[in-house]
Amino acid sequence: MVSLEKRTPRVAYFCMEFGLHEELAIYSGGLGILAGDHLKSAADLRFPLVGIGLLWRQGYTMQLIGSDGKPYDVFPTYAYDFLKDTGVKIRLDIRGQETWCRVWMVDKYGNAPLYLLDPNVPENTEREKWINFKLYGGNDEARVAQEMVLGIGGVRALRALGMEIDVYHFNEGHAVFAGIELIRENMSRGLDFEQAWRKAREQIVFTTHTPVPAGNECHEHSLLQYMGAYNGLDYEQMKRLGGDPFSMTVAGLRLARVANAVAELHGHTARRMWSDVEGAAPIIHITNGVHRYTWQDEGIRKAWESGADLWAEHQRAKRELVREIGMRTSVWLDPDKLLIGFARRAAPYKRSDLVFGKPEVIEPLLTSGKLQLVFSGKAHPQDEKGKEIISNLVAACRRYPNSVVFLENYDMKLGRLLTRGCDMWLNNPRRPQEASGTSGMKAAMNGVLNLSVLDGWWPEGCRHGVNGWQFADGYEGPDQDQHDMECLYRVLVEEVIPTYYSSREKWQEMMRSSIEMAQYQFSTERMVKEYYQRLYC
Ligand SMILES: *Cc1c(COP(=O)(O)O)cnc(C)c1O
Repeated sequence: MVSLEKRTPRVAYFCMEFGLHEELAIYSGGLGILAGDHLKSAADLRFPLVGIGLLWRQGYTMQLIGSDGKPYDVFPTYAYDFLKDTGVKIRLDIRGQETWCRVWMVDKYGNAPLYLLDPNVPENTEREKWINFKLYGGNDEARVAQEMVLGIGGVRALRALGMEIDVYHFNEGHAVFAGIELIRENMSRGLDFEQAWRKAREQIVFTTHTPVPAGNECHEHSLLQYMGAYNGLDYEQMKRLGGDPFSMTVAGLRLARVANAVAELHGHTARRMWSDVEGAAPIIHITNGVHRYTWQDEGIRKAWESGADLWAEHQRAKRELVREIGMRTSVWLDPDKLLIGFARRAAPYKRSDLVFGKPEVIEPLLTSGKLQLVFSGKAHPQDEKGKEIISNLVAACRRYPNSVVFLENYDMKLGRLLTRGCDMWLNNPRRPQEASGTSGMKAAMNGVLNLSVLDGWWPEGCRHGVNGWQFADGYEGPDQDQHDMECLYRVLVEEVIPTYYSSREKWQEMMRSSIEMAQYQFSTERMVKEYYQRLYC
């Protein structure tokens, strides 16, 4: 437990997206699901934390596969009847235009209260009503407007709701305008910029998730100024926070008293990446986790706890997945054959199609029926490379129609089915570009064995041949793709397949070790406690 000598800090957790449930389409992927799981564990632990987010009218893409085998994006407009109206409306100025936001609240998923800002109100002009239209959609201008609603609007919502906050947690750089708002508040009470910044800093913590330099969002100062994101500050002051162009991550590091990376290896990467940022907060690492009661199958949990027949429960979860796949795709996989799952955002560094690299190795395994593969994932709607990756996966399904399937529109429901019902979970990003990854933790908790390169969280969990397998030994050299592919095949052919078909006892022993490894160490219960002990305290 957190030491109670000091009052447990009251935390406001800011994030662009929250993945609480598939029916509330305000998330895109890993970042949002981490945020949703964070709120659920905070509630389980009765910690005084609230979430601040945006109500996305059209969510992220609903991505479907056309008959030409290519992904298409659909954006339904959502209406929810279960959001609670707090009665609070806040105002901020965007492009000099008065902009109002309603504040909704949702807590129906056993989560700490989540407050969602919504500019779709009658007081606003059409342009302002549509600020929160598509999550990660639109141009830079749209993004800055959204980030102003989240940051500036978020702080004002907390004030209007009458909430006392000790710690402002910016989960990723999207929320840094909240720091500018805190500085502005302090200055309006008579402090100069330096004092106001120092005071704000005592209350801010920041989590970085992006080990790829290009993934760190930057904005031109002229745009920020035009939008009103300066919020009373001047160019010199803004430049001291975020540089020129204005880097949201650099600003996060300079606005926070302490920052964190999301796995041990990511900690090393992030400290190296940001070592030359003057005045940056120290970067510690707190490894991600997942919310056990959301992601662990109840039957599997009970079987594991009581020592009952884990295999029977696993096969039940696998048959549920096989049925869902059959209903969706008309491909009926064999529940008695090895099934490997891979579901991820289609980004080149994640190498979704690495396993198909050498047809002479993979084809006999697929056509003989020894190996079955299920894929899922979305590409960002504006990412043509990502869409090509999806098309390649769909093409592989057509080459191997009985043993490879692709499930369109990856969401939390599919995430649950897949990380419970596969036998094995494959993960092969280019190390060290995966900050953490969490789907493998969900899999591990269900006894779905990980087969992964040593990136993200896996170096902390992996005991090769005991609770899963690693391949490539942490290689980061030239020909990384070729090297990693050869290593993947070697482990697959020499270790995984023989164990599955010839040493079922050992496989089941490994499943137990996997659950034991994951269920606390990679839970958000452990993670949220660590945030309180090391970041919020
Ligand atoms: C868990 C989950 C993710 C994040 O998993 P990664 O391993 O980080 O890719 C993304 N999307 C969905 C739907 C999930 O359930």
